[in-house]
Amino acid sequence: MNVRYPRLLVSRNKILENAARVVERCARSGISLTGVAKGVCAREPVVRAMAEGGCAELGDSRIDNLASIRTMNLGLPLLLLRIPMPSEISLVVRIADRTLVSMAETVSVIDRECRAAGKTHEVVVMADLGDLREGVWMGRMEKIAAALKASPRVRCVGVGVNFGCFGGVLPVPEKLEQLLSIGKELERSLEYPLPVYSGGSTSSLALLENGTMPAGINNLRVGEAILIGADVTGSRDIPWLHQRTVCLEAEVIEAYRKPSVPVGPLGLDAFGGAPVFEDRGERLRAIAAVGRQDVRIEGLTPELSGAVILGGSSDHTIIDVEHVRPEPALGDIMRFFPDYGALLALSTSPYVAFDVV
Ligand SMILES: *Cc1c(COP(=O)(O)O)cnc(C)c1O
Repeated sequence: MNVRYPRLLVSRNKILENAARVVERCARSGISLTGVAKGVCAREPVVRAMAEGGCAELGDSRIDNLASIRTMNLGLPLLLLRIPMPSEISLVVRIADRTLVSMAETVSVIDRECRAAGKTHEVVVMADLGDLREGVWMGRMEKIAAALKASPRVRCVGVGVNFGCFGGVLPVPEKLEQLLSIGKELERSLEYPLPVYSGGSTSSLALLENGTMPAGINNLRVGEAILIGADVTGSRDIPWLHQRTVCLEAEVIEAYRKPSVPVGPLGLDAFGGAPVFEDRGERLRAIAAVGRQDVRIEGLTPELSGAVILGGSSDHTIIDVEHVRPEPALGDIMRFFPDYGALLALSTSPYVAFDVV
């Protein structure tokens, strides 16, 4: 096979094992797991690994990704994670089984599109408990509860919350207790029980690990932990999961010894930034053929010890390899481990190939 670079190489088995371990850890506390596929743009082998690992549901933030998961016929319910655009709701009720919502008007549009399509749809109402991304602020549910009561084709199945997404707010037991009481109140107002209490994402696993997850939280929506074994909000690797499950391979297109400070009058770089340089004399530098168009360069860790990423432009990543032995040469393949943000970008670049080992 003719390998194309740059490419992402994914270890299907490590991701399968991560999924199974997270499923098992959650199950011990009565928590079902929604496997979140957006980090790899819902690539089929990875989605299948999540299903095989025992995820009870599959989620993605993009309806296009859910549509491709739908064609995999895995027999699992599909959850749309990003509160929907009104303009996509006719598609959403055909493709997704469940959707996260935060506005009364959205519920009404879902009901209307369901009537047009002859369908029903389930929703999970998001509460914003301080992270300041989506959700009904601190659970002021009156308006959305009224819309749900007036929408016979929309069934509310639960409440959910996000942490660590915009505000970087950490999940703590008190916040999840708050979610439980918000859900109870919504149950009273809707006059039916809500089976789903969705207590967040990867960052909420910490509460399971230290035994502080409040009883009653019975679902988590997890991507990052399964995909790369990390928790960026808690800035940690998760010790009972595999890291380095995915690597980026990029080809060296130049290797030269050059000064460490630019020569000539300085303007701004290609992205309008004003980079700062430290004079370390002449250094051996490699250029790898992958760039900001494909990846968040700051989210890459080189595999080679001694290699340091200096920066990059749209199509180039520049790496100090002065202390790397053997010295990288033209045509060598350099490997990097992406963090979650870098993985997300790499997975959606049409210039980056995707292979499974
Ligand atoms: C991405 C996402 C998740 C999964 O988050 P991870 O940090 O990958 O575990 C959960 N819920 C929502 C709404 C999301 O957008």
